[in-house]
Amino acid sequence: MLLRIVAIVTLLLTSACRSTAPQLVLHAEHGVIRADIAESGERVVRLLDDLAPRVRDLLPGLRPRRVEVWVQSELEVFSGWPLDPAVPAFTLENGGRIHLLEASDEQLSFALSHELVHALLSEEWSTLPSVAEEGLADWVQEHLHPNHAAMLRADHLAKASSAFGGLRFGLFASWATWGGRRLASFTLPGRDASDESSVNPNDAFTLGDTSVRTSLFQPYRVSVADSRLYGIGYLVVSRIVDRNGVRELQRMCRRASEEGREQVPAQWLLAAAGLEGSETQWREAISARIGPDELAVFATELAPFLAELLVRSLDPFRHAAPGHMQLFERVQPRLGLLGAPSSVRLSEVPAVLEALDEAWIKSGDDSTDSILPVSFENPAAPVSR
Ligand SMILES: [Zn+2]
Repeated sequence: MLLRIVAIVTLLLTSACRSTAPQLVLHAEHGVIRADIAESGERVVRLLDDLAPRVRDLLPGLRPRRVEVWVQSELEVFSGWPLDPAVPAFTLENGGRIHLLEASDEQLSFALSHELVHALLSEEWSTLPSVAEEGLADWVQEHLHPNHAAMLRADHLAKASSAFGGLRFGLFASWATWGGRRLASFTLPGRDASDESSVNPNDAFTLGDTSVRTSLFQPYRVSVADSRLYGIGYLVVSRIVDRNGVRELQRMCRRASEEGREQVPAQWLLAAAGLEGSETQWREAISARIGPDELAVFATELAPFLAELLVRSLDPFRHAAPGHMQLFERVQPRLGLLGAPSSVRLSEVPAVLEALDEAWIKSGDDSTDSILPVSFENPAAPVSR
């Protein structure tokens, strides 16, 4: 996230209300860390020296300077005006200081890799629209965490999909007898059902700074405040980088500057990403990046829900196997997106297996341990336990 301090309000507040810097100062090779807790500061020293050179390997056109990072237990720029607690980190405008909220090593590493992009991009990138800069930061974050890439990708794509009503999943049987029959389908909206605001993805890159109105009590604004826009930025940037490398983005920024433009035009970005058309095209672009690994992430997240859905879907077929696990093995349910070819076998997702056991027992008719043959004529007969 990129935070812009509104100049006029800053003048009023600077001397009196700026947050005081955390007391401990630690020196890393790639910057200075300030923290209240020594242990957190030391962790960030290690993370910074690991991540900063890798960001430099990935991106051209970075500022040569070292960065300053504050590790805070409550994120704030001005004393008494904490940011939304859901925000894990931000960077002050124009390659300024990074603020990180105290968190686990993993979360700090995700947040720092994203923020380093804001802090290190040089003037050459200044024409990159805010939504694309967020997308670039999320793309870098994903590339620096190969072991968590599927999870991060799933998260970014779920955000993008929420601009189009969400992800539409199907639960399918692989059992040859049923030949890919759909057992159930459902939508993951990715947003609060009460939020009916809409986002036009084709306008995302022409938006100015969005959504948080500044006031004396909130004297800053975030450059992008809608999670759907982060997802759209990520999708567009990833497609451009896949097709022509990250230098293509840098070239667009340079060309826009040379032509005296304030920003890279949205049409350039969308054309370079091959996304100039309909909602269907956007949806297909999202589905195309969701493979078995990302589906396994969704299945893990949704395990209790999927287990209940499976128990309900398989209930009429209890007679087909002596116990729920045998039935599960025979039917081999898979999770996939409707209209897309990828799927994941749910028997390969440990969280689903675990949740399935529980859901089946809860449903009151687990015959796994029963040695009695299950009646074909009366498949739903309750088994006393
Ligand atoms: Zn950001």
